[in-house]
Formats: sequence, C-alpha cells, structure tokens
Amino acid sequence: MSKINTVAIIGGGVSGLSAGGLLSQKGMRVKLFEANDKLGGCCANTDIDGYTFHDGALYLAFPGILEHVFERLGLDRSSLLPLRKIIAAQTTTLPDGTVLSFGNGLDVTIRRKGGANEGQLKKELDSMLKKWEPVRRLFADDILRHPFSWSQLIAKGWRHLPKFRGSVASEINNLFSDGAVRSAMSGVMLFSGMPPQKTPVLSILGLVAMLTEGFYLPEGGMGKIPEALSRALINNGGEIFLNSKADKIIIRNGRVHGLKVDGQGLVEVDAVISTASGMTTFSSLLNDEDIPNSMRRKVQSAPLSHKALVIQLGLSNLVDVRSHSNSILPMMDDQYKVFMPDEDDVKWPVYTMPTVTMPELAPHGGSIIEVFPPIQQNMPADDWDTQKKERMAISAVKALSRIHDLDIAVKRVIGPKDFQDRMHLYKGAVYGLSPTADLRAYFPHCSPISGLFQAGQTTYPGYGVSSAAMSGILAAETVMRTEKM
Ligand SMILES: Cc1cc2nc3c(=O)[nH]c(=O)nc-3n(C[C@H](O)[C@H](O)[C@H](O)COP(=O)(O)OP(=O)(O)OC[C@H]3O[C@@H](n4cnc5c(N)ncnc54)[C@H](O)[C@@H]3O)c2cc1C
Repeated sequence: MSKINTVAIIGGGVSGLSAGGLLSQKGMRVKLFEANDKLGGCCANTDIDGYTFHDGALYLAFPGILEHVFERLGLDRSSLLPLRKIIAAQTTTLPDGTVLSFGNGLDVTIRRKGGANEGQLKKELDSMLKKWEPVRRLFADDILRHPFSWSQLIAKGWRHLPKFRGSVASEINNLFSDGAVRSAMSGVMLFSGMPPQKTPVLSILGLVAMLTEGFYLPEGGMGKIPEALSRALINNGGEIFLNSKADKIIIRNGRVHGLKVDGQGLVEVDAVISTASGMTTFSSLLNDEDIPNSMRRKVQSAPLSHKALVIQLGLSNLVDVRSHSNSILPMMDDQYKVFMPDEDDVKWPVYTMPTVTMPELAPHGGSIIEVFPPIQQNMPADDWDTQKKERMAISAVKALSRIHDLDIAVKRVIGPKDFQDRMHLYKGAVYGLSPTADLRAYFPHCSPISGLFQAGQTTYPGYGVSSAAMSGILAAETVMRTEKM
C-alpha cells in the first residue's frame, strides 16, 4: 500500500462527515462529495413554510455513542449540539381499551377500566433491566465503539451469550405477565419493520435504551447533527462539494485511482471511503470487471430492510397528543397485521409528533404529525408514482382524522422512489440491510480493492444515527491503519 495523502468520501451523511472529520484531523487531505444540495442524508431537515420536517431519522437513540464520536473529532457536543430529552416517549392504545404510556425513564403508566397492577409492572420492569441493562451497557460503551470481533464479544460478554437466543416475542412473553403490557413493549420495536416473532431478541436493547438512557431530539431538529459534525471537517481544511454525485470509482492495476464525479470529471485520489450502501458501492459504483467476487456475492444475498412511506403534515392547530410516538396496535400475537397494506384504510395508525418535545419545529400554535402506513414490500421502488403515494396519503389522513382534528397547512409525502432517487437508498430500503440481518451480511470497512473503504449504515455497527456516525470513525481508523502498513 502506498502512502495515502488524499481521500475522497462519497456521501455527506453522518458517517461520511465523521470519517472525513477524523482523517482531516490526522492531516490527510479530504474531499467529500455529496450528491444532494445539502448535507445530512437520512439525518437532515427540510423547512417548508415555517415547518421543520425530518427527512429520515426521527429521534436520537444511543446518545452516548454519538457523544463518543464528537469526542473523537475534538468537538464539544454540548455547545455545538444541545439535546432535549424526549420525556413523553410513546403511547400505545390497544384493542382491549388499555392505553399504556412510556414517560421519562421507568415512568410507565397504564390506563384501563378496572385499573392495572402497576406494582407488578414495576417488578417486571426491574427484572428486565437487571437482565438486559448490563448487555446494553456492554454494547453501547464498548462493543459498538470498536471494530467487531467475535473473540472480543465472547471474552467480554460470555456471561450474556445464553440471553441472545430467541425472538423479541419469546423474551417479552417471559418477562411480562400482562397481555397489554407485552403488546405495548413489543410495539416499541416495530420500527425494525418486522413483527416481534421474527425480530431477534437483541433488538430489545432498543426498548432498554429508551427506558434507561432515553431518546433525544437536537434543538432545531435532527439536521443539526450533521451540521455539528461537519465542523470537524471544515475546521481542519477539508473540502465539501455539494451537488456532486460520484458516478464511478476508477480502479487501475487493482487499486483506487480516482473518482468520476458529475460536473468535475476524474478526481484523482489515493483512497475512497464510500458511504453509499455496500450494495451500491459493489454494483453500480464500480465497473463490472472491478467488482470482487466476494462482494458481488454479498450484494446478491443482502437481506434488505423494509421500504417505507412517510406522510408529514404541518398543522396550523395544536392536537391533543401527549407523546412523541403514538400507535394504535393489535395485541402482540397479531402485530404482523401492522405491516399488512390496505390502500383504502390504515387500520393501525403509527405516528410521531416531534412538536410534543420541540414545539418550535412548527410556527407558533401549530404542530407536526408524521404517519407511517404499511406498504407492499414486494413492489419495486420505481413503481411508486405520485398517484399511488397520494392515494395512500388520503387513507392515512382519513385514519388520523378519526382520532384528531387536523388543520393541514403543509403536506409532504416521501415514498420508496423518493428514498431511492433523492436520498440514494439502494432499492429504497430505508436502513439498507435489514435490522434482523446476521452480522455476516454487513460490508467490511476494508474492501478487497486496495484503497477502497466502506462506511455507513451497511457496515458495522450498522444503522441508526449514532451507529452510522461511529462506523465513519471505524472506517477512518481502518484507512489510517492501512496507511501505516
Ligand atoms: C425513514 C427513516 C427513518 C429513520 N429513523 C431513525 C431514527 O429515528 N433514529 C435513528 O437513529 N436512525 C433512524 N434512521 C436511520 C438513520 O437515519 C441512518 O442510519 C443514518 O442517518 C445513516 O447515515 P449514513 O451517513 O450512513 O447514510 P446516509 O444518511 O444515507 O448518507 C449517505 C449520503 O451519501 C449520499 N450519496 C449516496 N450516493 C452518492 C453518490 N454516488 N455520490 C455522492 N453522494 C452520494 C446520499 O445523498 C447521502 O447524503 C432512519 C432512516 C430512515 C430512512
């Protein structure tokens, strides 16, 4: 490997910005190319008529990992990125009339006819945390901050390994005795796009994280995260090129020679970190003859995450919603129904209201609701035309109107084709790889092509804003290690 002086980064989401920030801090020349006209990717904001909408990520989980990324970049997170805790996290309404609300930390309330045994719930929550909080800490404070290694996981977590078998549903059944409590607990993990029976038990760490560390919103919205991360790259003299789509990574004599960029032609560099998904990097970003067979096989067998449709409403009225996330769900055994599409009706509305925590995201007296109706997963992203999106939007608004008075000032609908074409997500899959994917499906930071590296949500430690940002740090470290060899 010859010396790496100049590194090109494909993508200005949180992973590209973290990678670029670290490399530029270590004295490398960094050029970051972003296809869109702004930074942030799936963690950006869009302002429309005074409403600040999120383009992708809705809240920040695992803030400790993001804090660590800021430390590694020499940035003061608390002054650059003030965070507000979501203290009314989730309300779930169930068919038996039970309404269960997650508040701040372990503050969980159950409203139902005839009352509820809150003492029993408290005991069961305590035993869940006794079992799972040490695992969350192990992952958040250690495993997810280092390159993945089975030997390290076994050495550090051998006590916990027997816990890792089974599904979210089997674990929730073991931990909680009340059917409504079980259904609300499993409902928290439906963001994975899978019913609890199919979701690996480790996803329970999302629920544990919500109850312990909490979820957060940055002041000004999720788009403030990439804005703050970009400080490291800018302060260290890195260059950011917006509206600059990388078309091809050029390989000569088995190693990276440069990058063909829209409007700039060939940019010669010593190395490339791609934060487009691994599936994109090892298909359309390389000439066919340059794709290593091992990566070609990985692309072919990649278990993709679900596609999504998001309907965002800027309301000129306030709505009687008390939680950030809200859902009307079936009982746990029937939660697969939440993913069954019906173009004419949304039977199980799942929606968030960021203005509960951050009213200033809407003009005074207004609010924002985002709803996520289920959609057909086997339909290609390209088939999602405006008409189809609009039809689903009408059904979703109708379903929400049955629950709340909506005075709609602004409406924005983001469908699979938008995620694919405008946010450059492979086949519109929102997390790239499925959250239930085996670790072997993830793409390595160091590719078989000399000088080509990979970061972002299809590499370890995976999807989610904090983890994706961490993957940028791990990829940059891989570049630096390779350079020393
Ligand atoms: C709808 C949705 C909801 C989500 N909800 C949450 C949540 O609540 N909490 C959470 O933690 N996470 C959530 N996530 C996941 C989280 O947003 C992502 O894991 C994270 O933002 C990924 O960061 P990244 O930098 O790896 O990729 P991206 O954000 O996808 O950034 C990659 C960037 O590369 C650019 N790019 C791609 N190809 C090229 C090219 N050829 N040339 C130049 N630029 C290119 C793209 O335009 C993009 O800006 C959500 C994601 C989505 C889509």
